[in-house]
Amino acid sequence: MIKTIGVIGAGQMGNGIAHVCALAGYEVVLQDINTVQLDKALETIGGNMNRQVARGKITEAEKAKALSLIRTSNDVRAFAETDFIVEAATENEGLKKKIFADLCPVLKPSALLATNTSSISVTRLASSTDRPEKFMGMHFMNPVPVMALVELIRGIATDEDTFKQVRELTVRLGKQPANSEDFPAFIVNRILLPMINEAIYTLYEGVGSVEAIDTAMRLGANHPMGPLQLADFIGLDTCLSIMQVLYEGLADSKYRPCPLLVKYVEAGWLGRKTNRGFYDYRGEHPTPTR
Ligand code: NAD
Repeated sequence: MIKTIGVIGAGQMGNGIAHVCALAGYEVVLQDINTVQLDKALETIGGNMNRQVARGKITEAEKAKALSLIRTSNDVRAFAETDFIVEAATENEGLKKKIFADLCPVLKPSALLATNTSSISVTRLASSTDRPEKFMGMHFMNPVPVMALVELIRGIATDEDTFKQVRELTVRLGKQPANSEDFPAFIVNRILLPMINEAIYTLYEGVGSVEAIDTAMRLGANHPMGPLQLADFIGLDTCLSIMQVLYEGLADSKYRPCPLLVKYVEAGWLGRKTNRGFYDYRGEHPTPTR
């Protein structure tokens, strides 16, 4: 039975996962190699919970209880006693495999593992652990406290008990599970990211401005936010990694990442998290950068 949860990576997804787990009453260990990021994550969680209190979604006491359940660390040894660990570090296969290789020796034998990868093969990541049968994909959506869906992905070796426990956990976190087979980018991003990439081509080819493209899709397709705004929100490095996984994994040129996306990532313009992407977030209101 899962009582304590470890979260690897305290970026936008890791802090959201820690937030919902603590609110559901689990003890949480949030780990990152970057201690600045850990402090920032605690600040973000506190701020997001304050917003939930103001909206009457949680009480002040529930917030205080949840915050008291979260502990941070920059060392994987902090996971020695955790029952379940979900990895939400940067979307890079080599980096994730190294994390699992370093992590497994410190875990108790019964500990279950999950990855929040947006696109990378769960089966391949599982093979870098000592427990592929206790490993699966648990793909939260961004922002985690707000979005209802969690995609559940079994690797080829995932056993039934692991799947059952992670499914139960998903429901206890108040989320709706949807099962996906282990194919590049699963369901949501297999559909969403090619659309975002196409929006970037539309900008690159001069079909429309940033503003025109986002307005067109908001008002013309009834999307809650435009695709370029959404790309900034996801993180352009994450968008590029997902397109690369689709391109290589499905060997189809229709998934070729737009050169403009590549250029923005090379410039370090990663969207909201760096204050600059298709929009500039340094002023009072976001303004298009092109
Ligand atoms: P992010 O860049 O905000 O955060 C990544 C964090 O990982 C950083 O804090 C970084 O310091 C940390 N990290 C890097 N190497 C590490 C290591 N060796 N050990 C511990 N921590 C390490 O990225 P994010 O948007 O939170 O994405 C994290 C994961 O979640 C990725 O796999 C991504 O594909 C997936 N995801 C992202 C979204 C999204 O919309 N951004 C949605 C669903 C899933």
